[in-house]
Amino acid sequence: MLGSGQGLGVLEQAMRTALTSAGARLLEAVLAGGGDGYAGPHAKCPDGHQAGYAGSRDKTITTVLGPVTLQRAWYHCAACKHGFAPRDGQLGVAGATESPGLAEMNALAGSEASFARAAGLIAALAGITVSPRTIERSAEASGAAARAASQAEAAAIRGRRICPLPPAEPVPGMLYVEVDGTGVPVRPSETEGRAGKSEDGKAGTREVKLARFFTVSRLDDDGRPVMDPGSSTYVFSFDGKNALAELVEAEYLRRGGEHCRQVVALGDGAAWIWTMAEKLYPHASHIVDIYHARQHLTGLASHLAFITPDPQQWLASRSGELDAGNIQAIIDAASCYPLAGVKAEELDKKLGYFRRNAHRMRYADFKKLGMFTGSGAIEGGIKAIVVQRAKQAGMHWSTEGAADIIALRCQHASGRWDELWPARTAQPVRLRSAI
Ligand SMILES: [Zn+2]
Repeated sequence: MLGSGQGLGVLEQAMRTALTSAGARLLEAVLAGGGDGYAGPHAKCPDGHQAGYAGSRDKTITTVLGPVTLQRAWYHCAACKHGFAPRDGQLGVAGATESPGLAEMNALAGSEASFARAAGLIAALAGITVSPRTIERSAEASGAAARAASQAEAAAIRGRRICPLPPAEPVPGMLYVEVDGTGVPVRPSETEGRAGKSEDGKAGTREVKLARFFTVSRLDDDGRPVMDPGSSTYVFSFDGKNALAELVEAEYLRRGGEHCRQVVALGDGAAWIWTMAEKLYPHASHIVDIYHARQHLTGLASHLAFITPDPQQWLASRSGELDAGNIQAIIDAASCYPLAGVKAEELDKKLGYFRRNAHRMRYADFKKLGMFTGSGAIEGGIKAIVVQRAKQAGMHWSTEGAADIIALRCQHASGRWDELWPARTAQPVRLRSAI
């Protein structure tokens, strides 16, 4: 039987089931050995009242080894009309029905895939049955905790109560800050009563704004910038540009932006991005994403197509000027036709984009300096963090729920996942003495 792959498959599954089940009993025994949290006839409730001992009560929590039942001393507070078990607080399971280990599994699987798919993955990979609804609740609770921790960290950094360490030597040459937004499909109740539609103009969505920070320390053989592997971190907000700016400011300080020789703010050309950059990192170079600039140029060319002798050639010439960063040449070439009325007004509007952003479109110079001119990094970030999980067919989120899951995905993509689970990275407990 052992000679065939099938035999081994059966055996390993049976062995895992047996060991998991034995592990659950062992865990139960170890937890029982740690006492039931009895603290005398009276104990302080979470609100500080005197609560009275009210006997022993069971609680079953689901762990990575399956269900485990605890015996805990139970106290009742007459003032709060609430009961509580001090032992739950010691074990980090107050108000929870999952162990910290299972909460992490739920968070990881639920942030990577739909909750139904996550339940399937956990059952297949860990042999634990958890309902999609439980994964949703558990993952969102972890995400909410992650958001609260990020907010607290950002407030402490902005308030200078935490001073981030300068970046490790050698300090990367360039720090990029790229920002963009996208609409997340939400339930109808989430957009009711909001002034107009969401900022991206589509009904039934709420806009999430995302910022990606990354560094560049070297150029490739063709002189193009190479993003430092593992250097990306993200912050996001559903609460508009001012809320995002607070998080960006803290992240900029945490990443040691003040120590970087060159900071680059790259965006699609939306005015708030530059306003934010001027306030938070005034010495940064601004770059309008070249692909957005090309789209505007195409719009300009088609606006003038009725009057230019060879519209295609006209656009090709202007594209060359755009790549060279010669924005004045584009403005001059577009201004030489005698337009009047609406046509002229429209042209003025279109040229306004180029006039306002001319210094952010010095593409030939930026290239020479080894800078990115396209915002592919933030577009990739939007896709990987938001679109792939939150914008799939048939999804309708609560804004809070979407924010919780996006928080987990940001945490993961920023390489800061382990910070959410300090218990797991702590030194393993010596089991021998506990048994
Ligand atoms: Zn109380």
